[in-house]
Amino acid sequence: MIIVLKPKAEEKKIQALLEGFTQMGLSHNVSAGAHTTIVGIIGDTSKVDVDSVLANDIVEDVKRVSEPYKAANRKFHPDDTVVEIPTPSGGVERVGGEHFTVVAGPCSVENEEQIVEVAQAVKRSGARLLRGGAFKPRTSPYAFQGLHERGIELLLLAKKETGLPIVTELMSLHHLDLFRDVDVIQVGARNMQNFEMLKELGHCDKPILLKRGLANTIEEWLMSAEYIMAGGNHRVILCERGIRTFETMTRNTLDISAIPMLKHQSHLPVMVDPSHAAGIPWMVEPLSKAAVAAGADGVMIEVHNNPGKALCDGAQSLTPGQFGQVMGKLSRQLEFEGRVLG
Ligand code: PEP
Ligand code: MN
Repeated sequence: MIIVLKPKAEEKKIQALLEGFTQMGLSHNVSAGAHTTIVGIIGDTSKVDVDSVLANDIVEDVKRVSEPYKAANRKFHPDDTVVEIPTPSGGVERVGGEHFTVVAGPCSVENEEQIVEVAQAVKRSGARLLRGGAFKPRTSPYAFQGLHERGIELLLLAKKETGLPIVTELMSLHHLDLFRDVDVIQVGARNMQNFEMLKELGHCDKPILLKRGLANTIEEWLMSAEYIMAGGNHRVILCERGIRTFETMTRNTLDISAIPMLKHQSHLPVMVDPSHAAGIPWMVEPLSKAAVAAGADGVMIEVHNNPGKALCDGAQSLTPGQFGQVMGKLSRQLEFEGRVLG
């Protein structure tokens, strides 16, 4: 249920209204915009009498929200959410709103030279966050599984060298302690519906990059975001990474229509991962441009200093030089659209 308050509603009266809902066992989410304040009521609102809420003199309008996701719903929060990520130098990166953010780095962290070299190169080309997997979800148990704790240490070293905040995937809650100094926790496609993990991340004080499951609907995806937000963590970034279809010429099928649909239904920032979507390096540029055109808030691109020798996903990784070229194209496209890179 959403309640639109009258402009200049008195704070004391707002608190009294909210207290009434709390006593009914319902929680709330207040979104104070420039002109109107919207209160989202979350929980089983079937017993709430709309007419009696309307009778309150600070209430302008009351609407029931039919979608099962509430906190993630744009009706609850008409303005775009901007997720803030602190940088090591005391600044802040913003994902969402006017910003178009590029996350780049290797699929997995392999050694110090590799991660530091890639981090420096992607930073020079304008990436604002460094990615790299320390715990890798591999289809085969015999494939490289990541460097685990050492991988996180190396990411932190690359962060120190470059000042880039780091994004890395959490595969199990048992590892959460190791993520203390990680800036953004990635929930991978395979864990999108690991509800116990999502609940725990709802209590965590870090932004979450929530990738779309391999075969999940947009509504299921938003419900996974809702799990995190229901625990109090509203810093969720959605990442479209391609879905399973009958097509085999690309690794997955990038669901471009998910971008405008998510932006319409939700206030959360939306990123696109063209590397896992296509699985082909030359497709990263056209798909990134498509992401910009469709209104995405950023892209996450795999870059490796020696793709031919990569321990994971080398076949889809760009070289630092190719990445630089894609960044040049994106920055011209963004400029043309009146948006800024970074
Ligand atoms: C990744 O980003 O390295 C990854 C494993 O992605 P996904 O979960 O989308 O497959
Ligand atoms: Mn990968």
